[in-house]
Amino acid sequence: MREKYLLRCPGCGRSFPDRYTLDCPSGCDTLLRTIYAERRLTPRNLPGVFRYKDWLPVEGHLRVNAGPVSYESEGLARELGLLHLTVTFSGYWPERGAGMETCSFKELEAQPTVLRLREKGAGVIQVSSAGNTGRAFCQVSGLTGAPVVVVVPTAVADRLWTTVPAENVCLITVDGDYSDSIAFGREVCSLPGIVPEGGAKNVARRDGMGTVMLDGALAAGRLPDYYFQAVGSGTGGIAAWEAAERMVADGRFGSRLPELHLSQNLPFVPMVRAWEAGRRTIVAEDMPDAEASIARVYADVLTNRHPPWEVRGGVRDALAASGGRMYAVGNEDARSAGRLFVETEEIDLDPAAAVAVASLARAVEKGFIDPGKRILLNVTGGGYERAAEDLDRYPVEPFLRVAAGAVLDGDLRDDIGAWLAEQEVAAYA
Ligand SMILES: *Cc1c(COP(=O)(O)O)cnc(C)c1O
Ligand SMILES: [Zn+2]
Repeated sequence: MREKYLLRCPGCGRSFPDRYTLDCPSGCDTLLRTIYAERRLTPRNLPGVFRYKDWLPVEGHLRVNAGPVSYESEGLARELGLLHLTVTFSGYWPERGAGMETCSFKELEAQPTVLRLREKGAGVIQVSSAGNTGRAFCQVSGLTGAPVVVVVPTAVADRLWTTVPAENVCLITVDGDYSDSIAFGREVCSLPGIVPEGGAKNVARRDGMGTVMLDGALAAGRLPDYYFQAVGSGTGGIAAWEAAERMVADGRFGSRLPELHLSQNLPFVPMVRAWEAGRRTIVAEDMPDAEASIARVYADVLTNRHPPWEVRGGVRDALAASGGRMYAVGNEDARSAGRLFVETEEIDLDPAAAVAVASLARAVEKGFIDPGKRILLNVTGGGYERAAEDLDRYPVEPFLRVAAGAVLDGDLRDDIGAWLAEQEVAAYA
């Protein structure tokens, strides 16, 4: 093929060029995949995540030095009795060269997504978020000037800050929960010129997150035997599986897929329950008292009610293909794992990353893994304390506040339309 990559639907097998396509044109319920012409991974001399540009659905790159950073753990590995523990860190940790200033691996997603959208000329992106994703997109907007519409629950609006001024963000807060934000985000996307980020369906999101696997395997010299990550949507798990498949096809990094060891935070653990019950679909009994459970977890970025579980190529398929396992981690275990990480590795963790550390400790304790084999621990976020000391912080000011269940009526439509028109004027000025 002459193109750098094509999209392929694993349902009907059709391949086609990317037009910021999120769904199979034939209507299959699948996650589209990128098929890259380049079968061998050649790291580029480019900043951050763009080191892995060959396997990202973009032509150019951004001058943003924020990628995953991998190193061989000594402190935590010794504490847990592990011989080969690679930590792949996404966050802010200047001593290790980690420059994600909003402190989570959502920046791995935001950078290629914003660039792909710009290259395809698809419009202005809309993101619904419980915090980390929104912050990452605001940051990339600040760094590149790309306009974004971010919709979040009003209660978490203070999580939206950047370390550079972000003048092209339209922040809308919704008086409700994450699901209400998603619903209003969908309303906003009915405006011509605004397109949804797409969640797990967005190949730039998955291939961006997949660079964790690439970076960890390159650092260790081969694919890990086990991959540990805390999941809410599970997109990072799917991404790890897809990236590992590409590395197997490359031929130089081993021939076995890593087992996925994915964790959630009690009491909200729908994927753990569906996996343990052997269910293809997530049902209501997997999320008893959803609202109250969500309110009680330590790591609330892990509370997604509609993860891409049953969709073809989704989390369930990834776990099954890799012979994986799921963990339900309590708040106390997560907190003490977070403290252990600070003591042994000397950087603070996002609560979600602490959940992953706790699952690793559990796996060792229960004998679920061989402590002599290779482990990749995806530390999905951290360094908030360092970032607060070192960096400027700009709160993102809300542009609009709406009620849960709001529809895009005349006034709201006019306000957002006026913002959009201003962006267009600025872009062509
Ligand atoms: C979003 C997020 C996760 C979960 O990621 P998914 O793969 O999308 O489930 C884990 N940790 C942090 C810090 C996150 O922001
Ligand atoms: Zn199809």
